Amino acid sequence: MSTSVESFADLGLSESLLKTLSEIGYETPSPIQAQCIPILLDGHDILGMAQTGTGKTAAFALPLMEQIDLKVAKPQALILTPTRELAIQVAEALQSYAKNLPGFHVLPIYGGQSYTIQLKQLARGAHVIVGTPGRVMDHLERKTLNLDNLKTLVLDEADEMLRMGFIDDVEWILEHTPEQHQTALFSATMPEQIRRVAQKYLVEPREIKIKSATATVAAIRQVYWQVSGLHKLDALTRILEVEDEFDAAIIFVRTKTATVELADKLNARGYAAAALNGDLNQQMRERVIEQLKSGALDIVIATDVAARGIDVPRISHVVNYDIPYDTEAYVHRIGRTGRAGRTGNAILFVAPREIRMLRTIERATRQPIAPLTLPSRADVTNKRVAGFKEKVAEVLNAEGLEFFANIVSQLCEEQNVGPEEVAAALAMMAQEGKPLQIAGEDPVPPRPMRESRGDDRRPAFGERKPRFEERGERPRFEDRGERSERPRFEDRPPRADRPPRPAPAGDMVRYRIDVGREHGVEVRDIVGAIANEAGIESRFIGRIGLYEESSTVELPAGMPAEAANALKRTRIRGVPINLRQDEGRPTGSFGGERKFGGGERKFDGERNFKKKKFDR
Ligand code: ADP
Ligand code: MG
Repeated sequence: MSTSVESFADLGLSESLLKTLSEIGYETPSPIQAQCIPILLDGHDILGMAQTGTGKTAAFALPLMEQIDLKVAKPQALILTPTRELAIQVAEALQSYAKNLPGFHVLPIYGGQSYTIQLKQLARGAHVIVGTPGRVMDHLERKTLNLDNLKTLVLDEADEMLRMGFIDDVEWILEHTPEQHQTALFSATMPEQIRRVAQKYLVEPREIKIKSATATVAAIRQVYWQVSGLHKLDALTRILEVEDEFDAAIIFVRTKTATVELADKLNARGYAAAALNGDLNQQMRERVIEQLKSGALDIVIATDVAARGIDVPRISHVVNYDIPYDTEAYVHRIGRTGRAGRTGNAILFVAPREIRMLRTIERATRQPIAPLTLPSRADVTNKRVAGFKEKVAEVLNAEGLEFFANIVSQLCEEQNVGPEEVAAALAMMAQEGKPLQIAGEDPVPPRPMRESRGDDRRPAFGERKPRFEERGERPRFEDRGERSERPRFEDRPPRADRPPRPAPAGDMVRYRIDVGREHGVEVRDIVGAIANEAGIESRFIGRIGLYEESSTVELPAGMPAEAANALKRTRIRGVPINLRQDEGRPTGSFGGERKFGGGERKFDGERNFKKKKFDR
């Protein structure tokens, strides 16, 4: 199988990076990493074709980091990404890979961010720049970005840059960079224009293509759940609880850190679970598998390598908690169930941005994967009640109840209640730490997924990686713009406690956008995108109504055409928002309407729209 048989150590990376990878929990290289890293370390250009989620960032980031001379505080690598979100995400990834490179500095630069701050940061010196084409071009034109020391240039998601109309800017940048440097171009697809750019600007590139081998899978029931509205962990426990035929499960995650974390969490929820990863020695590994066989464990959380070859017939379920890198890994994973003639079940968690991989898997396995409707709270409760009744029925048939019946009679008399009430109290006591009813609300079921490219690479709701601030570290990218100062919506009183919705202000216009809850969008995403893309100060953004399929947002009247155009092209969580004036009333449920910004707003003509150059 192609799945990461090699180790990072075989790829020629330095000790310091190997140490970091082990610390952040990467066990083995993904296929694209295994192929690209040695080639890039050798100094060749690369034309890489791989889709989202295959681990491209580390594939280009690790080799380029090996080449950085930390003593030279000048840009030595430039990474172009189609969107601001992606630029930030790639910069954060590099920062995490630089854990053991003291003084390493990566700077994301993108449209909508203040020039003053960017200039200050550029002046201070960064080793790697990650930016959107428009803004990078601006800085090159203004000579505020100097690429004389450039060693590596990466075009990440080239087809997406083409689709968003950035290709001319990209070419302009390629024209204006010094001749001598390594170039890596990554793209999920290879349209003619991208191939042309590659032919023109890449020097004898090695082509890497992550193939999707076809394979037939045995009679395994395959379903997927679209991650939305609920944490993966909550979804997992709900599913496991109501799945018929559940006996034992193996759950696949990407990192060894995740195996341990998830095992701890499942243990805390009463499951007999253990982690299985490459840190375990052979003896420990065998012990875990033995326990799974004997029933001392019901769930094992594993990485791909660690689970290789496991043959435990009672594994009724395989859960792809994190989607695999390629179809071979998928086929291999689900082959852990349905063994020895038993039926198997494979459940795949798919974030909206991973939809392509889902389709690829379907094609490669020549089998459709059906969407799974998440069990509702009522489903879970019913299941628990049924189990409870069964247990009670067993005890009812047992001998020696007289003593207890007597206690019940006494209780009835003393408390002046009927036996039913006493029984209810006892049933409540008998829940054994696992309440029959589960708390919280049911998430709104997602609509069928759109085939969106998901250029907003923020992980879906519930699996967002903590940003540096949230992890209590010093933010490495000082300029988070207005974002960090923005009031957190979570801190606001719940809707019911807030004053009723005031009549729309006279100088505001209501617009409709094509993103809503079903896309995992939150109010702050909308505020952030509009503030950044249209240069509208967030305090001038009016009420935002968040609905299922679309949302409304109030913006000051008199929006400059430039800003309107920028907003027409803006995407949130990968979905084009298609901003337009709102005519009718919203159709969906009327929830989640919030007003953003402080009470008194006075709109002052075009001045409220910052003068900015829009990233094309
Ligand atoms: P892509 O750019 O191809 O969409 P990313 O580079 O963003 O993919 O990687 C997707 C996810 O996989 C990230 O969360 C990343 O941390 C994780 N990842 C990448 N490589 C590895 C690896 N070798 N082991 C474990 N996790 C990895
Ligand atoms: Mg990427």
